[in-house]
Amino acid sequence: MKVLLLGPPGSGKSTQAQRLSRALSYFQVSTGNLIRAHIQSDTELGRSIKGYNDRGELVPDDVILKIILPNLEPAGRWILDGFPRNEAQARELQAALEKRDISLSRVIALEAPDEDLTARIKGRRQSLATGWTYHVEYDPPPEKRGDLDTGPFVRREDDTPEAVRRQLELYHQEVEPLKAHYEKQGILTAIDARKPIQEVTEDILQALSPARAG
Ligand code: ADP
Ligand code: AMP
Repeated sequence: MKVLLLGPPGSGKSTQAQRLSRALSYFQVSTGNLIRAHIQSDTELGRSIKGYNDRGELVPDDVILKIILPNLEPAGRWILDGFPRNEAQARELQAALEKRDISLSRVIALEAPDEDLTARIKGRRQSLATGWTYHVEYDPPPEKRGDLDTGPFVRREDDTPEAVRRQLELYHQEVEPLKAHYEKQGILTAIDARKPIQEVTEDILQALSPARAG
């Protein structure tokens, strides 16, 4: 199983990827998490991309490809969230998959209106210990520290109104048109991401079930 999750910022890509990877034992490849790990570790690469991340701009394609492609194991089961983010990345992904004799099982497009997304991002918290995503109201971090996730639970550097506006703009310009490409291949399923988190997970599991059985 090789699955892509597409969707605007705040639609729940990382929330769903982390739940699905846990439920199905998939490997979660999250471009955003990989980028933030480089920034937090203050690597040379991290320093070179921090500005793009904090402004809500796309990190240059050559950098993102170098980070992402080694993770796409031919034999593995993975769920990729946050990639591709433009046509050039989609072409590079296609070429890399063909070279490894891999085909995508399904592309899930999470859909929600911009108004819902900004409210979600406002309450988003991320665990510095696990990278796991929470929401102060809709998916609160575990209260008992030392439990599953010790935190701390912080706001992301790019969860500012300006960066979110730019991410949304880029989503509509660059990512949304990619859906037609996967639709033509017959592997796209659109999911209503306005529903509660657990319902969205169930809808995705339903969409993946024929591919998992096959
Ligand atoms: P993305 O990875 O697409 O940017 P996230 O997974 O980070 O989105 O989700 C954004 C915020 O919205 C997080 O705080 C998350 O807990 C919350 N969230 C995700 N899905 C839902 C949902 N279906 N309903 C309510 N809140 C959600
Ligand atoms: P995300 O965690 O998916 O919201 O991504 C956070 C930030 O990481 C984005 O605003 C970009 O700066 C960067 N990023 C994530 N995925 C990509 C990608 N595929 N191409 C370019 N930049 C990306």
